[in-house]
Amino acid sequence: MTGLSDSFQRPINYLRISVTDRCNLHCVYCMPSGGIDLIAHSDILTYEEIYTIAKAAAEVGISKIRLTGGEPLVRLGLPQLVQMLASIGSIDDISLTTNGILLSQCAAELKSAGLRRVNVSLDTLKQDKFEFITRCGNNLGAVLEGIEVARSVGLNPVKINVVVMAGTNDDELIDFATKTISDDWHVRFIEFMPVADESIEIPRFMPVSEMRKRLESLGKLEPCLPSIGNGPAKYFRLPQAKGTIGFITPVSEHFCFSCNRLRLTADCKLLLCLMSEEEIDLKKPLRDGISSADLKQLFKGAVASKPLRHRLDEGYLPKDRPFSQVGG
Ligand code: SAM
Repeated sequence: MTGLSDSFQRPINYLRISVTDRCNLHCVYCMPSGGIDLIAHSDILTYEEIYTIAKAAAEVGISKIRLTGGEPLVRLGLPQLVQMLASIGSIDDISLTTNGILLSQCAAELKSAGLRRVNVSLDTLKQDKFEFITRCGNNLGAVLEGIEVARSVGLNPVKINVVVMAGTNDDELIDFATKTISDDWHVRFIEFMPVADESIEIPRFMPVSEMRKRLESLGKLEPCLPSIGNGPAKYFRLPQAKGTIGFITPVSEHFCFSCNRLRLTADCKLLLCLMSEEEIDLKKPLRDGISSADLKQLFKGAVASKPLRHRLDEGYLPKDRPFSQVGG
């Protein structure tokens, strides 16, 4: 196996796979108010098809896989997929992004199947606000329980992803940061990314620089050294904290120049950039019986056309593709 890199010499080793476009929450910043046109069941990749693509990807240089959605835990038998992916020798890290509602029920099984880590999206610690943000979630308690169960079965580090929206949950920055001291949480504050769909109720953007200013009242944020993680977050610690605070700045300070990732949608489109409309359909060749060698070639060719960077700062937004369909 040789390393995979794009035409800008960026090493590409990370594939995010959306296993479904269905979600049991309808977050205001992620899904249009009228819902989304769901992919027909027959167009959603089977676990065997996902395995075939992941194996080809691994053979050309992908070593890390994250499962996402929609909500990945609403797809039946996810531990079975994890086990299949874990059997691919050169995949050394399988992780999951979830809203946590169903996590307590399956964390142990996922861990035994080979899942290493989990990120839980949680934007508020208050039940009434949870209902507002998720539009339909009446069970914040289930998410908190899911986080604890995931930690107890060793899916560590459990990272809590918070999309910060001015006027909605920015008053909870301190509460989340305090959890890194009181409960050893690893919290990541993420800038809201604009979405083209006008029916998405656009929350007010807050840059990470403003978030950091607000957190200063808790003490100095010391950078974690050596730096941790293999993604775009920059990590810090408050005095006395075992947990960490991460910041992700897709808008105020893009990290495209170190982007190492690709995305596969639930209907098998390979996306080279979250904020681009370009996609490569792998489903037709796959269902037409493409050989493993040709699939690897197709994959490599796609990677070679990965764009250098997104163009959010020039006002460019991809159309017709809310995050719930891409996997965030
Ligand atoms: N259902 C899973 C979950 O809730 O984590 C996985 C899918 S969700 C689309 C993946 C991630 O995308 C979540 O962490 C979510 O907060 C993030 N996300 C969705 N819309 C976003 C936006 N407009 N800006 C920033 N992050 C967004």
